[in-house]
Amino acid sequence: ERASYLLGLVGEGISASLTPAMQEREGEEQGLLLSYRIIDAGRLGVGAGDLPALLGWAERLGFDGLNITHPFKQAVLPLVDELSEDAADLGAVNTVVFTEGRRLGRNTDWSGYGRAFRSTLPEAVGDRAVLVGAGGAGAAVGYGLLDQGAEHVAVLDTDPERAEACAIRLAKRWGDDRVSAVTDLARALDEAQGLVNATPVGMLGHAGLPVPAELVRPDVWVSDVIYFPLETELVRLARSRGCRVLPGGGMAVQQAVGAFELFTGRAADPDRMARHFAEL
Ligand code: NAD
Repeated sequence: ERASYLLGLVGEGISASLTPAMQEREGEEQGLLLSYRIIDAGRLGVGAGDLPALLGWAERLGFDGLNITHPFKQAVLPLVDELSEDAADLGAVNTVVFTEGRRLGRNTDWSGYGRAFRSTLPEAVGDRAVLVGAGGAGAAVGYGLLDQGAEHVAVLDTDPERAEACAIRLAKRWGDDRVSAVTDLARALDEAQGLVNATPVGMLGHAGLPVPAELVRPDVWVSDVIYFPLETELVRLARSRGCRVLPGGGMAVQQAVGAFELFTGRAADPDRMARHFAEL
């Protein structure tokens, strides 16, 4: 008898998400009966206040787990019975596993970014990086970089208070000497070997470059978390200058790899999932 799993993604504006197809295909490849549903809060007209009921119903209806995305990654925190240390550090949960009447809160965004980074830019894991954009994605990226061994992460945001708060969060786990909030991008990049965009700039409908083009030197590696489109203006510019690049699809695939493993207790095949993601 095939093991069966009922999973879902809870968030807003997720109707075009590629996660269901990625998870279901990996399940099929592994001989599982895996159904992965979109639970679009916008369409259902539910907000953060409805999350306790939504989780309760998902559990009662037999869901084995949920991925949680924007704008609920923080709101779901107090609704789990057990929180991993990293999810507590980040103040964000993107994966809830329902098991034996308990809800486990996990975060595969940071570990997914870390794995994507190591597999694409293995020689750069110890570098100094500049992280532009200090929201939820930025915090996860910083955490992943530091976990992989980055010597230092300089955090910058158009809102300096957000950069400060993100740096404090990261430093609490990784040490004051490895993280700082900065305001001078040119100077920070002078002292770094890599640049990550974790702002929404470059997304479909948000065209543009998050940093001035002249700061993208050929010798820095450039990473983006955006994957709609897969190749952002920043990634294209970086490629044209000969920079090593890590586009946002890597994180999207690897966070799903981590979630698949938490949901099913089986290892996923990251290369197979990446190939499928690229076909979608
Ligand atoms: P957010 O709104 O919480 O944070 C974005 C931050 O960027 C804000 O603090 C904002 O002040 C800052 N910012 C905006 N423009 C800037 C600029 N030009 N320079 C410096 N800072 C600037 O958003 P988020 O949830 O962190 O998501 C950010 C992006 O990451 C989104 O495009 C999202 O789609 C993407 N994302 C990708 C993955 C993935 O798996 N690849 C995962 C999560 C999020």
